[in-house]
Amino acid sequence: MDKHKLLKQYFGYDAFREGQEFLIDSILEGRDVLGIMPTGAGKSICYQVPALMMEGITLVISPLISLMKDQVEGLNQAGVHAAYLNSSLTPGQYRKALGYAREGRYPIIYVAPERLLTEEFLDFALHTSIAMVAVDEAHCVSQWGQDFRPSYLKIVDFIGRMKARPVVAAFTATATKEVKEDIISILMLREPALMTTGFDRQNLYFGVMTPKNRYETIRSYLESHRKDSGIIYCLTRKVVEEVCEKLADDGFPVTRYHAGLSDAERKHNQEDFIYDRKPVMVATNAFGMGIDKSNVRFVFHYGMPKNLESYYQEAGRAGRDGQPAECFLLYNGQDVITNQYFIENNQDNQELDSLTRGLVMERDRERLRKMTFYCFTNECLRDYILRYFGEYGKNYCGNCSNCLSQFETVEVTQQVKIIIGCVRECRQRYGTNVIIETVHGADTAKIRGYRMNKNPFYGELSEVPVYRLRQMVNYLVLNEYLAVTNDEYAIVKLTDKSGLILNEEEPVIMKIAKEQTRPVKEAAGRKGRRESGKKTMDVELSGSDELLFERLRGLRTEIAKEEKVPPYVVFSDKTLTHMCLSRPKTKEQMLAVAGVGEYKYEKYGERFLDCIGRG
Ligand code: ADP
Ligand code: ZN
Repeated sequence: MDKHKLLKQYFGYDAFREGQEFLIDSILEGRDVLGIMPTGAGKSICYQVPALMMEGITLVISPLISLMKDQVEGLNQAGVHAAYLNSSLTPGQYRKALGYAREGRYPIIYVAPERLLTEEFLDFALHTSIAMVAVDEAHCVSQWGQDFRPSYLKIVDFIGRMKARPVVAAFTATATKEVKEDIISILMLREPALMTTGFDRQNLYFGVMTPKNRYETIRSYLESHRKDSGIIYCLTRKVVEEVCEKLADDGFPVTRYHAGLSDAERKHNQEDFIYDRKPVMVATNAFGMGIDKSNVRFVFHYGMPKNLESYYQEAGRAGRDGQPAECFLLYNGQDVITNQYFIENNQDNQELDSLTRGLVMERDRERLRKMTFYCFTNECLRDYILRYFGEYGKNYCGNCSNCLSQFETVEVTQQVKIIIGCVRECRQRYGTNVIIETVHGADTAKIRGYRMNKNPFYGELSEVPVYRLRQMVNYLVLNEYLAVTNDEYAIVKLTDKSGLILNEEEPVIMKIAKEQTRPVKEAAGRKGRRESGKKTMDVELSGSDELLFERLRGLRTEIAKEEKVPPYVVFSDKTLTHMCLSRPKTKEQMLAVAGVGEYKYEKYGERFLDCIGRG
């Protein structure tokens, strides 16, 4: 069968996405490949399709048990025989699976890196034909990355033991130069065919908010998105506990995850989330590696994470099915201080010598600064992220809170002159809050204690609201008219450019959002995406489509229970949306729905047709 037929038959898709075909063709020509593609781009298809076309078995090396389980369930649901070999199997199950593998029942086998050099596995691998070794999450070989796994170093030894060298195909979503070079050299890829696809995730909406009451923002969002699945990331375990408890009290189906829970509870809660029994997860950043849930519709950050790498990775867990999804960062000035504390007290760095530790801390502070600027910028947020990762955006994406806010430009030269004057007069000794309170004329014990009420600029800007003053200070720091020290005190200092303002050599024109935050979208119809050829457009499901969607979702839950798999493994939200829009009546029409392959049709196509017919 050719690759297009395979794609349609097993996965139900009509066309390959960017980069997939090139990688598949290269693999089929016997070349090693390295695919660097963002989360959700569709890396798995790049090795699964050729695996079904090559003579011999494909071994997929994957770092996490949950990830393997998910992938294997997905393949079996699609009618591809696949198995995994890892420590979650009992010795009996392991031997049985290996026995089937020897008989050649599985074209695709997922295996944990720790297993590769065990006697039993080597004996199997040496007596069978291995066509390809696909290395998922290949950045785990690199010490530069965030997820270095020593067991990944076994991969290259293993490949070396094979009599005939299989094709080696490596995949990752980590794009930095060091990691890429490490993957190529450590895995000893031979002149690999390289494919890097853009890091933009167009289906994700990005928003930053600084609400007075973060909890209330989340609560009202959940209220209007009752049926959606999502993740709420918090900075600390304590906040996870608080937010989760409040949401549960308010009647939302939430669960929690952090490193302080027992293994058993973590596993249990994670499954509640994946199986949509508790579709809302409140977690620290310990949650998410290997979570493949495709129908996550929103990710909230209840506080600013430590850097943009983490932010984009965590927010990127939304919308893996390509459907519109929303990512909100709720920023609060305190977050910077919390993160600074984490940096100063990072246990991971204790073994480093003091010089290296200093460098690492400096790097982390710099990353934190860039993250903080993300919360302040008035430019396109998507653009900001893409530029951070070394890509060029379009300056305007139309799908982020800044692109969608209305801004006005105002001249603030006289006002910022007062702020900078205040910093100079107090001899650059205080942090932002003290400066803002001084020019605003706050009459507090602290201000009197610092004698800032004697500062010549005290109360000069009492008419300007505090949030506006804060925006101005942020603007000045962002544009280097002021600097904030990179330590726990965050003291405001003058810069080389401060004089330009004091001497009025440059007018200062600021872009200011008309409303401070974008009101969270109403629970208007579910948004779908209709793909016609290359064009993609957003559509809102109408009332009757929405009802059908709910019924189809109910049927999917029922089938998922029967099959003991997560609902999205049966069909993705995207596939259900397509069914609502096209309302297929026949087998042919059903097979034309993206995500419906022959095998799945045979299993449940008719039940879905019936359900649609009744609508
Ligand atoms: P990654 O591993 O790159 O994060 P996945 O392999 O999990 O991404 O794929 C993400 C989603 O995109 C899955 O639901 C997958 O079925 C879907 N997908 C992959 N390739 C295609 C394609 N050519 N057309 C439509 N959907 C696709
Ligand atoms: Zn934008």
